[in-house]
Amino acid sequence: MTDHRPRVSEVADGVFQLARAGVNAYLVAADNGLVLIDAGLPRTWPLLERTLASLGARASDIDALLLTHGHFDHVGMCERLVEEHRLVPRVHPGDAELVRHPYRYAHENARLPYPFRYPGAVPILGRVVVAGALGVTGVRADPTIFDGDMIPLAGGIVAIATPGHTGGHCAFLLEARGILLTGDALVTLDPYTGRTGPRVVARAATARSDDALRSLSLLAETEASLVLPGHGEAWDRGGIASAVAIARSRGVD
Ligand SMILES: [Zn+2]
Ligand SMILES: [Zn+2]
Repeated sequence: MTDHRPRVSEVADGVFQLARAGVNAYLVAADNGLVLIDAGLPRTWPLLERTLASLGARASDIDALLLTHGHFDHVGMCERLVEEHRLVPRVHPGDAELVRHPYRYAHENARLPYPFRYPGAVPILGRVVVAGALGVTGVRADPTIFDGDMIPLAGGIVAIATPGHTGGHCAFLLEARGILLTGDALVTLDPYTGRTGPRVVARAATARSDDALRSLSLLAETEASLVLPGHGEAWDRGGIASAVAIARSRGVD
């Protein structure tokens, strides 16, 4: 059974998964930096504060906020981080406009029929709303993340442009540790269908699924052993290679 309660898990040494309503943000704590990857939903905030407190830190100590993409469920704490802590998110230029307007996103299929076709999605979407999804305010991001960039914090974080889910989507690789944060390029829970296991997000929220399927190869090339998705549980059974193989075999809902 999946545990739906808001929770923090240390999924690798110093890597904390902040999970609220099936949406994950990650805090990476290392000697040379404290980095938040994605900003969850507004009510992910208590999980962030609690995790920072356990490290003897505060939000003002975060060195960088990197966004995998600009969807509302990944930018929920941005407004507060900008307003209260002057922490401006960094994103690929292809998603900067989306971070400003996180509900104005392209998708191949209409969203409305999905909860009817996939009743398993209904409780997930309900929890997303309770976690503040309808009150997300966009912010101006710093559009300075490009494919192959190495962010010299927390042991070195490499950006991998993985377009498809959105035009400017990036995954982030903790290269020295074989840990890949896939954002919504590959998830283990699809909020639009309720389906679990490695997969590409449904067409209800994916801009171009053909590109998204192509980007899976870029993820596989990292040969990462631990996969940390934007939605759902961490995946370590056979690393990214097996996750990508399973996602491909399932196609796109
Ligand atoms: Zn998304
Ligand atoms: Zn998402």
